[in-house]
Amino acid sequence: MFAIAIHGGAGTMSRASLTNDREAAYRAALERAVRAGHDLLSRGGSSVDAVSAAVVVLEDNPLFNAGRGAVFNAAGEIEMDAAIMDGARLRAGAVAGVKRIRNPVLAARAVMEKTPCVMLGREGAEALALAEGLALVDASYFFTLNRWGALEREKSRRASGESAPVSDEDRHGTVGAVALDRAGNLAAATSTGGHTHKMPGRIGDSPIIGAGTYADNATCAVSATGDGEYFICLAVAHEIASRMRYLSESLTDASHYVVMKTLPGVGGSGGLVAMDRQGNIAMPFNTNGMYRAAIDGRGRLSVAIHGA
Ligand code: ASP
Repeated sequence: MFAIAIHGGAGTMSRASLTNDREAAYRAALERAVRAGHDLLSRGGSSVDAVSAAVVVLEDNPLFNAGRGAVFNAAGEIEMDAAIMDGARLRAGAVAGVKRIRNPVLAARAVMEKTPCVMLGREGAEALALAEGLALVDASYFFTLNRWGALEREKSRRASGESAPVSDEDRHGTVGAVALDRAGNLAAATSTGGHTHKMPGRIGDSPIIGAGTYADNATCAVSATGDGEYFICLAVAHEIASRMRYLSESLTDASHYVVMKTLPGVGGSGGLVAMDRQGNIAMPFNTNGMYRAAIDGRGRLSVAIHGA
């Protein structure tokens, strides 16, 4: 039995603003990513291999706010965060505030596998990536008109004192994956550009173990997306694992409670993908959409964007 679930960010995705072509492009990209992870699992690859492979596909696609499509901070720069966790050994690796690493999730994996650390920031992470032969790219690699336009819109919105919130599509997003492999091991990975016009140096929940990313064979694997500060303060991913461990809640009950009750209780919006050791999948979100896809233990593919 093996399974995988991925997300490409949660938010207010109005059906009207999503043209048929754009929706088809998102769906195709999600399917490609989930299949990349699933193919590895079917060939006996580990859940760590599967979540890295799925996230790399999403990082390479400018549609998503991670890697190539990362959003710009207030200084017009890219600063990315990523993490990965191995639920069998309770090992994790994360990078924060990196500007030149093409695939931050691979750097996070290098931190986990090649260093005694859990989290490396900025130049230190980039030096490790270089030493490990990972691709470092010029800032121009991350330049997309779409993301630059979002930064410009956010700047003028702020300058005009407009109180209307910027669209979620302009503002944030994140990608992530959870998987269960044939050996019964869980893993999770998350990668993000954070949110448009974030303060330079701001680090979100994605690279923080227990907040945006977590995996423990004893409970579940979780990768989250949403307002990072809330996910950090509520230790969302670990909270779900704790509810399963101490309250004996199912994956579905624990993850729905945290996303639908705990988070909104303090004003936090977002969603997550989660998986337990039986291959059960939960993909709750309290926004009106979340880019998501899964291939369950019976090999059934699902791809969705809006609510049910
Ligand atoms: N959670 C991400 C962050 O706060 C952003 C997002 O998922 O939309 O950096």
